[in-house]
Order: sequence, then structure tokens, then C-alpha cells
Amino acid sequence: MEQSVPVERPVRQSMWRGFMGHCPNCDQASLFRKFLKVQDNCPNCGEDLHHHRADDAPAYFTILIVGHILVPIALLVQTKWSPDVSWLLGIGIPTIIISCLLLLPRIKGALVAFQWARHMHGFGGHPE
Ligand SMILES: [Zn+2]
Repeated sequence: MEQSVPVERPVRQSMWRGFMGHCPNCDQASLFRKFLKVQDNCPNCGEDLHHHRADDAPAYFTILIVGHILVPIALLVQTKWSPDVSWLLGIGIPTIIISCLLLLPRIKGALVAFQWARHMHGFGGHPE
């Protein structure tokens, strides 16, 4: 039995589309139906999107990125200016929470699009 060669999908373009929350195939419809719920199928092109297996990776990468950017800034501010604890409660913690909430769906979208572009987990048309 001859196996068909999967169609080449541009990884960077797909990941950018996913990062922006768009379908990695057509870039015309939303990848998500809720905050972090991926559509089963694209409402525009019909591409199957339910094969994704992002699991905990978006949260892991979000914590990794936010931790490596904001924690050094917080330490720098604390050691240089020693601001009041209200600075931490009023600005530091909300900044970290908002950054995580903004970054999490973008990273999940990029990861789902990466899996789609690389034909992982059933995105290539073969069973998982
Ligand atoms: Zn689409």
C-alpha cells in the first residue's frame, strides 16, 4: 500500500496565525471558541482543529516567558528603589496576572498551529 506524502505547511506562518488567534490554515476565522477552547473545526475553511494536544505546554511556556521577563524587572526595581509593598500589590502582581492572561491564549494558538503545521496528533489525516 502506497502512503501519500503530507502537504508541506509553513511552520512560521502557521505559528504566527495561531499566535494571533486565527486558524492556521486560512487565517480568516478565530482559532478559539472560548478563551482557551479551540474550535473543533474552522468555521471558514472547515479545517479539523480538534486534533491538538497542547496539554500543559501553553501554561509552562507562559510561566517561563513571564518569569524570565517580569521577575528580573521586579528584582531590579526592588533593589534599586526599594518601593513600598503597595507597589508590589498594586502594580507588580496585576502586571504579572495580565501578562499571563494575554500571553496564554497566544502561546496555545501558536502551539496548536505548530502541531497542525507539522502534521502531529492526527493533523496529517492519519489516526492519532
Ligand atoms: Zn480556517
